[in-house]
Amino acid sequence: AADAAQRALVASVGDAWRATGAELDTLLHARVSALFSRMWLHLGTALFLLCGILSMVYLVAQQISRPLRQLARVMDTVRRTGDHRLRATWHSQDEIGQLVSGFNDMLAQLDHERDVQKELAATARASEAQHALVEATPVPMMVTAVPGHEVLHANHPALYWLNGRTSDPWAYGLDSAVRARFFQQLSDRDAIDEFEVRWMASEEPTWAMLSARRLKFQGRDAVLTAFTPINQIKLMEQRLELWAKVFEASSEAILILDSERRLLTANASFYRATGYRAANISGTLPRFIVASGSDAPLMEQLAALVDISSVWNGEAVVRRRAGGDYPAWLMISAVRDKHGGVSHYICTLIDITDRKKSDARIQFLAEHDVLTELPNRALFTRRLGAAIETARQSGEQVAVLFIDLDRFKDINDTLGHHAGDGLLRSVSRRLLQSVRAGDTVSRLGGDEFIVLLGGVTSAADVGHLIDERLLPLMREPHTLGGMSLQVACSIGIALYPGDGEDIETLMQNADAAMYRAKSGGRNLVKFFSQEMAESTRHRLELDAHLRTAVERGELWLAYQPCVHAETGELMSVEALLRWQHPHLGLVPPAQFIPIAEETRLIVPIGAWVIDEACRQIARCRAAGLPPMRVSINLSVVQLRDDTQLVERLRASLAAHDVDAGSLELEITETVLMESVDRYLGVVNEIRALGVKLSLDDFGTGYSSLSYLPRFPLDRLKIDRAFVNGRLDAPADLAVIRAIVGLGHELGLRVVAEGVEQEHEAQALRRIGCDELQGFLYAKPLPHDALLQWMQARAETCMGEAV
Ligand code: C2E
Ligand code: CA
Ligand code: CA
Repeated sequence: AADAAQRALVASVGDAWRATGAELDTLLHARVSALFSRMWLHLGTALFLLCGILSMVYLVAQQISRPLRQLARVMDTVRRTGDHRLRATWHSQDEIGQLVSGFNDMLAQLDHERDVQKELAATARASEAQHALVEATPVPMMVTAVPGHEVLHANHPALYWLNGRTSDPWAYGLDSAVRARFFQQLSDRDAIDEFEVRWMASEEPTWAMLSARRLKFQGRDAVLTAFTPINQIKLMEQRLELWAKVFEASSEAILILDSERRLLTANASFYRATGYRAANISGTLPRFIVASGSDAPLMEQLAALVDISSVWNGEAVVRRRAGGDYPAWLMISAVRDKHGGVSHYICTLIDITDRKKSDARIQFLAEHDVLTELPNRALFTRRLGAAIETARQSGEQVAVLFIDLDRFKDINDTLGHHAGDGLLRSVSRRLLQSVRAGDTVSRLGGDEFIVLLGGVTSAADVGHLIDERLLPLMREPHTLGGMSLQVACSIGIALYPGDGEDIETLMQNADAAMYRAKSGGRNLVKFFSQEMAESTRHRLELDAHLRTAVERGELWLAYQPCVHAETGELMSVEALLRWQHPHLGLVPPAQFIPIAEETRLIVPIGAWVIDEACRQIARCRAAGLPPMRVSINLSVVQLRDDTQLVERLRASLAAHDVDAGSLELEITETVLMESVDRYLGVVNEIRALGVKLSLDDFGTGYSSLSYLPRFPLDRLKIDRAFVNGRLDAPADLAVIRAIVGLGHELGLRVVAEGVEQEHEAQALRRIGCDELQGFLYAKPLPHDALLQWMQARAETCMGEAV
């Protein structure tokens, strides 16, 4: 219960504590609340007062910071924009007002200074740029003072021209006269343009073009001079000048044409050569240069060609202004621009008149005979070819006349070559006179002429022309150096197409006909016939075979005795040549001797005859027969052409050990006729050997008797034409008697040939012939037969004598 009572007491005390604590709490709260209320009142009052003060302060600060802020804003804008024209606006009389106006003033000041500075910088930049520009210009420029001439400025390129000089470059650079002229012009006009000088102040004298201006430089009177180097131009100018001089001075005519081939310019030589004036032809096409042989202007024809190949050379003809023209060698070169197009043509014309003339002359000489200026064989054959062609088409005929002068050689030899030439010229003129304009007269050489007649209708036509014109003209005497001469001619004619269809045949056949006319006794006209061709062919055949006759031993000698007219004693034998051909048989000498003479084969053949005759003499001697003379026939060709004749004779005589006196040479009258003097030397040499000489066939030629005594002859042989069957007529007999008398007068023995009948022998004997030869006594005999004949003869003679 105590516990309970303690606990009840503690509970009542706890209750009482709690009741008192709650009461105490309520009392304390009331007290703290009163305190708080008072404190809040005081705090509010203080706050109110503070706010009032702060508002006051704010208001004042506000009043001060506005202008300052404005100032700061302006400053900031100026700083950002750099616009110094901005100003702060504040109007008050107080310190702030002063501050703002001070700030504005400062800004204005700043603005002004910046402007000045900008301007200065700009000026500095400009002058710097100018300086750089001046320095960088490639044109040399210098500024020199006037009048001191010291160099005030020179850009880099000008340094070369000053070559280190700083004072008066003019004195060094220019020649005094040029300098004076330069400054004179400068003072007259204050400016000079393109004043060409040779500037010598530089390292090497240089051509320059000066331009100068008066100016103020750094406050001084000065001259600005710019140099333009023109060395290259000058060089080109000089070269051009030289070219111009060459162009003008060239002896060849030079033309320069534009791309349209119109004349731009031509040199003096051209104008001289052609007579044109620049004014007449400048700008025109050069129509005065034409192709030779046509009227077509050459440049127009050639342009396309030259455009491709750039050059052309060839002949042209240049028309002169006053008419007439001249041949020229034209060279055209095309000048090209950088695109390859033709910009100009250069034409050079070289006058080739002289060359043409000499060419023509050479051509003429190549085709003509110098002496008569007639066409030669080459030209003749060409014309004949053309005539044949025309005739073939027209169906007409062409006549070829071979004309050979008779005995021209005699004239040449007796009167000299001069007269001979004169005669040939005269004959050629006559021939030309006798034919028509289109016909051709040509000289083949020597005294041979050939005539071509075109448009012939018949042989009679040709015969008529020859009889009516050609022969009468030819027969008229030719006057040569005061001398009058007559010549006859032999003519052979061949006609196309009848006598030959080609050049060769026609000429051959005309020749054959002429040959026939000649051998028919000269002074004849013969038309070709087939039979002539045959004989020509035969002649050619003989000729071919004859060439080997000696080597092949086809030749032999026949011997015909010649006897004393009174006693019948054998006086000599005549060696007569025989040709025994295996196929042709025995060819008579009358056939082959003329051929041998023509072809000069008679020289080796004659040499063989000489040797063979000497061998025969030796043979007779060996046979024990009495010494006998052998006569051999000597052709005039041998006398003329065999330079070794005398030597041969001597050699043959020596080889066979034969006495020269037993050999006799028979020469014909032809020798005398041709020219005594020409052969007298050889004849005398032959005589000097001791060889005898006789004149054969006497009476057949037209020998001039006056020459007879000049030949060292032994015998005169009367031709058998006078003997055979002509001794009955008293007149003929009288002729022979006269010949015999003449021979005797000259101290010669006279021989009659061709004695066939006894009565002839008697008649001749009566007349006084010394010796007789003929078939009556013996035919020409082979040597064995001769020996037999001789032996038989010797026996009968002896018998007769007995
Ligand atoms: P030629 O010198 O007048 O020779 C004489 C010719 O007359 C010979 O002819 C001969 O056979 C011939 N004859 C001789 N007696 C008579 C006769 O009674 N009646 C006839 N009707 N004829 C007779 P062949 O041998 O034919 O010679 C002819 C010509 O050939 C010769 O004429 C001579 O000029 C030439 N000839 C002959 N042999 C040679 C030679 O070796 N050299 C040269 N250059 N010419 C020669
Ligand atoms: Ca004879
Ligand atoms: Ca004779």
